[in-house]
Amino acid sequence: MKVVFIPLIDLKKQYITIRDDINEKVLDILSSANFIMGDNVKAFEKEFADYIGIKHSISVANGTDALIIALKALGIGRGDEVITSPFTFFSTAESISAVGATPVFVDVRRDTFNIDYKKIEEKVTSKTKAIIPVHIFGQCADMDEINEIARKHNLRVIEDACQAVGGEYKGRKIGTLGDIACFSFFPTKNLGCAGDGGIIITDDDNLATICKGLRTHGSGENGRKAYNLINNISEEVEEDKSNDNTIYNPLKYYNYLIGHNSRLDEIQAAILRVKLPLLDTWNEKRRANAKYYNERLKDTNLIIPFEDKNVKHVYHMYVLQSEKREELVNYLKENGIATGVYYPVPLHLQKAYANLGYKTGDMPNAEYLSHRTFAIPMFAELTQEEMEYIAENLKNYGRR
Ligand SMILES: *Cc1c(COP(=O)(O)O)cnc(C)c1O
Repeated sequence: MKVVFIPLIDLKKQYITIRDDINEKVLDILSSANFIMGDNVKAFEKEFADYIGIKHSISVANGTDALIIALKALGIGRGDEVITSPFTFFSTAESISAVGATPVFVDVRRDTFNIDYKKIEEKVTSKTKAIIPVHIFGQCADMDEINEIARKHNLRVIEDACQAVGGEYKGRKIGTLGDIACFSFFPTKNLGCAGDGGIIITDDDNLATICKGLRTHGSGENGRKAYNLINNISEEVEEDKSNDNTIYNPLKYYNYLIGHNSRLDEIQAAILRVKLPLLDTWNEKRRANAKYYNERLKDTNLIIPFEDKNVKHVYHMYVLQSEKREELVNYLKENGIATGVYYPVPLHLQKAYANLGYKTGDMPNAEYLSHRTFAIPMFAELTQEEMEYIAENLKNYGRR
């Protein structure tokens, strides 16, 4: 078979399967001219919370904002330390810095690529306020052990679930495993919109109220409720019931907290409402694709992904390891197969964090992985023919 090019993820193929539905909904919104925080946003928040099985969901503009607002809602800021993984997308640590706190990196496990819980306690100080485990590439971190450490030291747990929507841990859904969880709907995530989007979820009534206040400039009814909560003021505040942003709301111009402008818009929410019911099917397809790759590649000198027995991995990325990564990636490229390197520089060695004083050798596993890992095409619409072609090329390379 001669394949021209197989991308890491093919969003056009996904769009074709849901085009009519999406087009109709988007056009409806354009004619309604109600773009911000309307019926679709309200409905999507409820549908997402029901899907996960959690009480509150607060949609925001992206996954990074979700993390920043969650950290602020927990009262984390200047002088505080937050423990996280160095083997993740930059935004996990960036959000900690954005609220004025300091990220403290703990090395990862070589097999799951997730934070090594055995190394967390040695990094806990009197300044530590929270742990952000990242469910990297779609596989859940060791949440029981992490929660146990958090309980012992009175720390809060924020799940960075941006890569793991729909995943599970010991039969429980990712996002229900800590105090609060953050998701991204960036187009290439397992559940993606047509632009930027994100959501915060929690079972905690107070955290939810504060997040709602913070996402819209700490203003209006939500801002006032959040302010009252933070300052222990008991006062009844009526919820803003309006679903139409074109209606004048005087309280919108009264600000109670320094917040953000971080909202999901109606068009994104409508698109997500079409996609959410398909997420489980798509994730199952990803799992089946991973199983196929595993089967075909297990007898090569490539290291295939390790799947922990406690988890339902949703393969946001299918990540292999090779000692000859650069050569192999080039070979695949010559044969029309895209690859991606996640992540080439662990966060403790990023230029932006030079001020934290880490050096090479501080996080041996994250550094080791950063030289070996690479992702191959993974998405629900991959065909059997394409996967065979990819597996054949990987095997051919091994034989050379
Ligand atoms: C994508 C991602 C984010 C940030 O999400 P955005 O929507 O791009 O802001 C945060 N953490 C992880 C692990 C991610 O993969």
